[in-house]
Amino acid sequence: LPGADLVCPQAVDVARLLPSPAAEDDKYRRGVLAVRAGSDQYRGAAVLCVGGALRTGVGMVRYGGGEDVLAQVIARWPETVGLNLDPLNSTDLGPGRVSAAVVGSGRGTGPANAGELRAVLESECPVLLDADALTLLAGSASLAELVRRRTAHTLLTPHAGELSRLLPDADRAEIEARRLEHATRAASLYGATVLLKGSTTVIAHPGAPAAVNPTGTPLLATAGSGDVLSGAAGALLASGLPAWEAAMCAAYLHGRAAELARDGAPISASDLVEALPLAAVEVRHAA
Ligand code: AMP
Ligand code: MG
Repeated sequence: LPGADLVCPQAVDVARLLPSPAAEDDKYRRGVLAVRAGSDQYRGAAVLCVGGALRTGVGMVRYGGGEDVLAQVIARWPETVGLNLDPLNSTDLGPGRVSAAVVGSGRGTGPANAGELRAVLESECPVLLDADALTLLAGSASLAELVRRRTAHTLLTPHAGELSRLLPDADRAEIEARRLEHATRAASLYGATVLLKGSTTVIAHPGAPAAVNPTGTPLLATAGSGDVLSGAAGALLASGLPAWEAAMCAAYLHGRAAELARDGAPISASDLVEALPLAAVEVRHAA
């Protein structure tokens, strides 16, 4: 609804926004997503994030991380291409090489991770930050300043605890009590799109209406489901959707996938990955 300050997207809205490959597309034109998630301690985060991206649809996923983690990712998703850019340089994330990057889930918060995050933020590449990347951002005024100065799309995907670190004057309970208000405040503070996860996912963007996601189930409260969401939203960013639209579509599909997976029985994050195409097909039928 143009002019409204609150929107609740429906399947037809998502269908209108979802990229559909054109006849003249090739894999590079469809978008290349760089995934810098997961680590030796959290290999599954990498596998789930890559899966979320591939099952949402993107031209290519390139995994940047340790050899052991890459091996694990390739064992599950052999179509993944390695990205040997260590340490990462901001020019590596340029047009023609990578069209968006996801950083954070299970990645770690050490100095090397902070350096990687800095390089990603200094690039012109659309970026999604989750989990450990948000922790690093909350702890560094200079990283926060880099986010504010970005002109490329930046999408932050905190849960309430992560948002409370990004907004030092609001604890988790306060954020849960006023989710929309605090997501909007964070969006204007960082000059970025904020997708606040939880029982009701909300999306805020400076100057845009707030969106309340209508899909989802408490069955999503399971380890790894946030990693799947970051991959899904990253794929849409890589396909060229602006951050607000990518966040809205990913949240919708992710929530709907959870409702459809295993007919409402308890799901694991891996089930969610497999159900993403069901949600996409349903949305396309609504168009
Ligand atoms: P994370 O906190 O990173 O593991 O992400 C959890 C995912 O599950 C997010 O997409 C949340 O929005 C979703 N989620 C968590 N708890 C609930 C809940 N009680 N109801 C609906 N969705 C939830
Ligand atoms: Mg998480």
